[in-house]
Amino acid sequence: MSEKPILQVAVNAPLSRLFDYLPPSEGDTPSPGCRVLVPFGRQRQIGMVIAHAAESELPNSKLRRILSTIDDEQVLSKQDLWLIRFTSDYYHHPLGEVVAAAMPALLRQGKPLNPVVQRLAITGKGAAQSLSAVARRAPKQAKLLGLIGGNANNGVLFDELDEAMPGWRRLRQAMLDKSWIRVFESPLKPDFEANRTATSEGPSLNADQSRALETMRLRAGFSVSLLEGVTGSGKTEVYLHLMRDVLAAGRQVLVLVPEIGLTPQFVSRLKERLGIEPALLHSSLPDSARLAAWRSAGNGSASLVLGTRSAVFTPLGKPGLIVVDEEHDISFKQQEGLRYSARDLAVAKAKHLDIPIVLGSATPSIESLQRCSDGMYQHISLPSRAGKAVPPLMRLVDLNQHPAPDGLSPPLLDAIGEHLQTGGQVLIFLNRRGFAPTLICSNCGHIAECRRCDARMTVHRGDPKLLCHHCGASRPVETQCPDCAGQFRPLGQGTERLEESLSHHFPDNTIARIDSDSTRLKDTMNKALALATKGDAHILVGTQMLSKGHHFPNLTLVGVVNADQGLFGTDFRSSERLSQGLIQVAGRSGREQRQGEVIIQTGFPKHPFWSELFRGGYGHIARSVMQERQQAAWPPFSRLALIRAAAHKKSDAHHFLDAARSKAQAAGSSNVRILGPVSAPMERRAGRYHAQLLLQSADRQALHRLLHDLRPKLETDKSGRRVRWSMDVDPIELF
Ligand code: ADP
Ligand code: ZN
Repeated sequence: MSEKPILQVAVNAPLSRLFDYLPPSEGDTPSPGCRVLVPFGRQRQIGMVIAHAAESELPNSKLRRILSTIDDEQVLSKQDLWLIRFTSDYYHHPLGEVVAAAMPALLRQGKPLNPVVQRLAITGKGAAQSLSAVARRAPKQAKLLGLIGGNANNGVLFDELDEAMPGWRRLRQAMLDKSWIRVFESPLKPDFEANRTATSEGPSLNADQSRALETMRLRAGFSVSLLEGVTGSGKTEVYLHLMRDVLAAGRQVLVLVPEIGLTPQFVSRLKERLGIEPALLHSSLPDSARLAAWRSAGNGSASLVLGTRSAVFTPLGKPGLIVVDEEHDISFKQQEGLRYSARDLAVAKAKHLDIPIVLGSATPSIESLQRCSDGMYQHISLPSRAGKAVPPLMRLVDLNQHPAPDGLSPPLLDAIGEHLQTGGQVLIFLNRRGFAPTLICSNCGHIAECRRCDARMTVHRGDPKLLCHHCGASRPVETQCPDCAGQFRPLGQGTERLEESLSHHFPDNTIARIDSDSTRLKDTMNKALALATKGDAHILVGTQMLSKGHHFPNLTLVGVVNADQGLFGTDFRSSERLSQGLIQVAGRSGREQRQGEVIIQTGFPKHPFWSELFRGGYGHIARSVMQERQQAAWPPFSRLALIRAAAHKKSDAHHFLDAARSKAQAAGSSNVRILGPVSAPMERRAGRYHAQLLLQSADRQALHRLLHDLRPKLETDKSGRRVRWSMDVDPIELF
């Protein structure tokens, strides 16, 4: 190897290759895992050194030098680089883009590895101003002085100001000019290592839990345990015991949860039981806090790391255990850009690190159950609820017999009244936010549609508008039909409308609505959840946001307003999803002393799905889904990959996929079926026409070889310039 090697650098560009550079003319050669600044075309780009090589395909005279080294220590360890490469290979996604997705935003932007944060402080001159005098001329400046005034010496973080007073940055220059404020930088030192005094011992484990724990403890090194426990069976208690072992041995635990909404309850339970402040990694944190948490995980100082999907890429200095809670949840799959499954990558990561991983769920994915049958995962079950709680009673209400003009049938209304009267709490579930899903002309039946999608506009009342839930387009609510000048009226139910009907039926009760509209404001979600948890809100109305993981001690009745969309879903995963959703939401009820009740309204009570669900619960549905999939050779009995394309002109999308099809056929793998191209089920979205090509094979290797060959050909195909395209390996939604 020559003294100065060739550096193979990944650049954040949609090209699945590395770029060779010569080391900088001065200074040390950067190691793999360090960021560098490189000339790229006519621009400069931040790159990541992936490897050193002795030679390049290009002669040295053609190679350019890197401009400078950004890091003098590795940002990504060997293990981190391994996961990034694995991800890039498995999902056939450009390595540079995977590197970008795996790093916190600040590192992607080339900011220093050790986070420095900017603070704003008030000067003596600023402090001497009379706030009321300033407020008369410049009320915003007065507000800002007021905000930072209390912290005269330490100053206030820019991030905190962004939250407290969006737009404050526009005032900065004027106030600096007057010498009222000053800006300074300081290192951000997070304190994740708390005193480690747990404030609560927790219940002692029951026999099933102890058996589960012992089974998991027996395995050293890599193993996958699927902990299938009915809702409220005490899975979390089992995780907590396992975590305690690992932490006591001085190793780290990484916990992945599907949604940020679930973190506050989890965090307080972890703090209470383990005495540790977890390092949090999720998208609603300020960038500097995320970087600080990421660093602390990487150097091993944060012993407990909790995050959502992208936290799977968090470096772990002293890895000991990974827990994926609610492993079946589709939020673990990224649905755009790099379409990875955090659950699947977590398993790969655990294997590479040779540590155990626990996947927990009341309704495990068919994929994970299948791996248990294959003997790859160990299946551990908690068949009954922990403590004294018993499973909820479920029943159907036939909407043909009991019409529900405002969404709530008489039997459901009666049950709500009864539960409220006896001090219970009620959750009404509807997976549709907004006031009404349709605005229709009472005269001619014209329906208000999105101008950019093949979709109806949803009527919103709180913040009155028509909103497209697919592309986010909005316009004022129309009152008159553009075709016949008839009156428009809202049709159907959304959570806002249900809230209105419920307050009409139950005027003396407090109602809390929890969906992404009501929770967009930061902390509103936490407040609403606190209200719901304490039992101060009697009726909760919400979307699936409310159905997962939460523990509401007083909740005794769950009403499912409409489950019928899922019964006739076109996707082969519909019944798996429907049963998972129903069981999750049902699992919110009767988690403590009193038995819960679940009422599901349906227009199709004879549908075979119901008898299966009532007869055998999720286990039964899972078995019959498994059989169906085996007969039809759907996953997990085959592997799928979807190539999607979208373009302003329909023909461009189809041309590209036709070309992709011929290239795939030319690559000639008899083991891979190629289906399509076809238009996507919702063809027009956000002004683009969507189409797709499905590749299916029982032979995973054959499918991956084909994708591997195909990707660079598609990258250089001319018809690709007019389309946005992507590869989705193991897609979970076929549109
Ligand atoms: P899951 O994670 O399976 O939904 P949790 O661990 O949250 O279940 O437990 C549900 C409820 O049961 C919690 O209130 C928990 O404190 C309680 N619980 C769990 N295990 C036990 C036990 N062995 N004895 C008594 N109560 C328990
Ligand atoms: Zn739209």
